[in-house]
Amino acid sequence: MNSHPTIALFDVVGNWLSVGGIPINRLAECVGGTPFFAYDRRLITSRVKFLRSVLPSDIHLSYAVKANPMPAVVQHLARLVDAFDVASTTEMKTALDTPTPASHISFAGPGKTVVELTQAVAAGVTIEIESPTEAARVVEVGSRLGIRPRVALRINPDFQIKGSGMRMGGGPQQFGIDVEEIPSLLQKLAAAELDFLGFHVFSGSQNLHADILCEALAKHVSLLIRLAGECPWPVRYLNLGGGFGIPYFEKDRPLDLLAIGATLSDLMECAVRPNLPDARVVIELGRYLVGESGVYVTRVVDRKVSRGKVYLVVDGGLHHQLAASGNFGQVIRRNYPIAVANRMKETELENVSVVGCLCTPLDMLGDNITLPRADIGDLLVVFQAGAYGLTASPTAFLGHPLPVEILA
Ligand SMILES: *Cc1c(COP(=O)(O)O)cnc(C)c1O
Repeated sequence: MNSHPTIALFDVVGNWLSVGGIPINRLAECVGGTPFFAYDRRLITSRVKFLRSVLPSDIHLSYAVKANPMPAVVQHLARLVDAFDVASTTEMKTALDTPTPASHISFAGPGKTVVELTQAVAAGVTIEIESPTEAARVVEVGSRLGIRPRVALRINPDFQIKGSGMRMGGGPQQFGIDVEEIPSLLQKLAAAELDFLGFHVFSGSQNLHADILCEALAKHVSLLIRLAGECPWPVRYLNLGGGFGIPYFEKDRPLDLLAIGATLSDLMECAVRPNLPDARVVIELGRYLVGESGVYVTRVVDRKVSRGKVYLVVDGGLHHQLAASGNFGQVIRRNYPIAVANRMKETELENVSVVGCLCTPLDMLGDNITLPRADIGDLLVVFQAGAYGLTASPTAFLGHPLPVEILA
């Protein structure tokens, strides 16, 4: 299990796993107890640096705040990335609290209300319009406030991207505007008081296939360049989406980012720059930036043997880290990487199941996994907790206290 590429990102000091250079037992003392989430700031920094070294230098990186909206994480990323993508007004506030200018914050997502749109227009945030109704609302809000809203149109393409964990483009969708409706909508909006920036396309999440992502980027670029030709305004913004995945499960291999970098360089040089020399081109990533940097730390409360099977019962569970239990949109339950933080170098292994403290069989964190032999009091960490962890979990279920989150 220690061979998992994500586990290998973390330092081991003696027998101890460490996060941000601090052994987990010391972190637990800092926090005052378990369970807690710890995010490694050095891993986030090095991930962004790696991306910068591989992607063309004129690509802007945007962080999708919903992956991990902890304010300290967002503040840390503000020094590293160029832009933020938000999906609620709470996330918008977190992003506006950073030094990132409002002009580099985009607001996406279906069902934005007049109140939310008003806040975004007043703040000067770019609104990624998801429907013709929303377009009309933004125009109204702008005229009421006497501000020309900054807008981009989110496109629902006429093709699908395979291999994504979650598909958010192609076919009928609640996301974006069908591409075939765009020309007539552009004509309708031609006279409107809008600061029209360009287009956004985001077709899916958690894709580990570089070849498919490269093909998707090429298709997105040619689609958006074609639309730019039909546009009554100059196009100054192209958000190409992302969907870069991380290796959650044992058989997953990390994404081949070099291939993506090479494809993007080609696309920029041969397609984007000749047609749209001044457009700001954005890649928008959530989990790829933060997912692997985080761990969920729990303590073993009980070790019991039921009819020959060993259960490690920990003081956390799906109420904090739903995704690791396999109940956050996964079709088949598979185990996230898990380690015993105080026994990283031990060689006596056993087969166990790791369960949480909730009174439901769904609360399974590791089903039949091989770990060093663990005892009551040991610290058990679940990896891949840096994205879609705490804020994607049903924290009120069973009423246990909220865990602390730290950026170490
Ligand atoms: C959720 C989302 C993202 C981030 O997805 P990841 O899989 O975390 O990279 C990016 N853009 C939009 C519009 C989203 O809705």
